[in-house]
Amino acid sequence: YAKEKGKDNYQFYTRQLSLDVEARLELEQELLHALRKKELTLYYQPQYDLESRKVVGAEALLRWRNEHLGIVPPDRFISIAEETGIIIDIGYFVFEEACQTYMQWQKEGLDVGSISLNISSIQFREEDIFKRFEEIILRTGIPAHKIEIEITERFIMEYSTINLTILEDLRNIGCKISIDDFGTGYSSMSYIKSLALDTIKIDKSFIADLPHDSHDAEVSKAIIALSKSLGYQVVAEGIETAEQEAFLKTHGCDIGQGFYFAKPMPSEDFIAFVKEKEKKQ
Ligand code: C2E
Ligand code: MG
Ligand code: MG
Ligand code: MG
Repeated sequence: YAKEKGKDNYQFYTRQLSLDVEARLELEQELLHALRKKELTLYYQPQYDLESRKVVGAEALLRWRNEHLGIVPPDRFISIAEETGIIIDIGYFVFEEACQTYMQWQKEGLDVGSISLNISSIQFREEDIFKRFEEIILRTGIPAHKIEIEITERFIMEYSTINLTILEDLRNIGCKISIDDFGTGYSSMSYIKSLALDTIKIDKSFIADLPHDSHDAEVSKAIIALSKSLGYQVVAEGIETAEQEAFLKTHGCDIGQGFYFAKPMPSEDFIAFVKEKEKKQ
């Protein structure tokens, strides 16, 4: 009986495995054509100054809608895009789209301090990324200091294989550099100190159980204190409650982002949202 069961389990396992492989292959195939078929768009989530409660920025977040797969969340396709190298073209698309959108907002009279966008560490191995980003900045006319490039801690772990002069070049023309999901990786304090950064984003996993979880409370306070002492701006992501906002504000966090304020939304909705908010203030 045990043997029978084992065999069934094995068959179940291989069947499940081939389904996973098939699903992954389909995702990969569809992703290859996603850009050309204009299936990728950006949503924008407002970032709030916790002191003034004004919208001082927006983060651009990728959304993929495919005719067969439906809506595929970034957590499911970004890693595949990285493994296949498609992330490079996606990254240029994101950069250009975000810059254009920012200029659109400006034309509409919207005063949004900055636009943040996520760039994979894979992209920083490209020789010509600086030239191409600079070209987009000049062509769209966006002031470079309005752009904040979010890199993850993984970037720092890959320190030796990536081209750090790209970061310096970007900062030299005015772009801001932000470390995303801070606290989840393995970046050492000396790297954080030696890299020229502007902003640290506390990962949402530390925010979720605030203020009750004493461990998360201490970690958040420590990250805020560290950022401040190094002269970096500090952003908390994933704020979902008034208590979380109050805690972070009390302990000196500069900027907040999360469903408590607003979800990521298409550009048109973002424009309407900010205009509505300005009217009330
Ligand atoms: P991230 O850059 O850390 O973005 C924050 C994520 O938290 C977003 O998920 C956002 O929708 C979500 N979020 C915002 N507020 C809340 C909240 O209050 N509660 C919770 N639970 N979640 C909240 P999203 O859009 O699914 O993106 C997931 C990740 O995918 C991003 O994490 C980023 O690492 C990656 N990603 C998204 N867009 C891009 C992109 O254009 N390029 C690259 N390379 N990666 C991207
Ligand atoms: Mg981000
Ligand atoms: Mg993040
Ligand atoms: Mg994240």
